[in-house]
Amino acid sequence: MHYIPASSPPKALDVQAFASENGVLDGVDGLEHYPRLTSDQFKPDEASQLSAQIKVHWHAEGELRTVSVAAHQVWLHLGAQVALPMTCQRCLKTVALPVEAKQSFRFVSSEQQAESEDDDAEEDLLVLTKHFDLHALVEDELLLAIPMVPMHDVCPEPQVFAAQDPDFELQEAAAPHPFAVLASLKVKKH
Ligand SMILES: [Zn+2]
Repeated sequence: MHYIPASSPPKALDVQAFASENGVLDGVDGLEHYPRLTSDQFKPDEASQLSAQIKVHWHAEGELRTVSVAAHQVWLHLGAQVALPMTCQRCLKTVALPVEAKQSFRFVSSEQQAESEDDDAEEDLLVLTKHFDLHALVEDELLLAIPMVPMHDVCPEPQVFAAQDPDFELQEAAAPHPFAVLASLKVKKH
């Protein structure tokens, strides 16, 4: 096992060499290095403020898997987590949503090979390169792991309709009970 400390995922990783030495890389990186994770949710100044304190935890392992005496497969196992600030779709306040990605990739020698094997393979296929952008892969995988509708488990404030109409409860309390109306009609008959 080969351990290399790092903070940002490398942007030019020799995948074959990494797998051959059973390489392990992991680190804790600032969210500000992942602009695609915040650009949809926040204005640029808001995003940079938030992302200064938020960290992306990532981990990568290389594996050379022996298929037969003469054949090896190049694998990369990736994990990444971040508590991503997003806008809750119920109360519209910020929620720090735990986003977690975990995926294994098998590297093949060409785009054609990836296309021809893709239908049969359960794992994701990528094309082998000496300059693989692991940083972009971490960002891609976290983007894919973001829930479609981000929400608090329990929102910190009352529901929006009640907050917008302070008279809501008062009006309901002031409305006469139907039986009370009937009773007053009976009284008028006498
Ligand atoms: Zn909420």
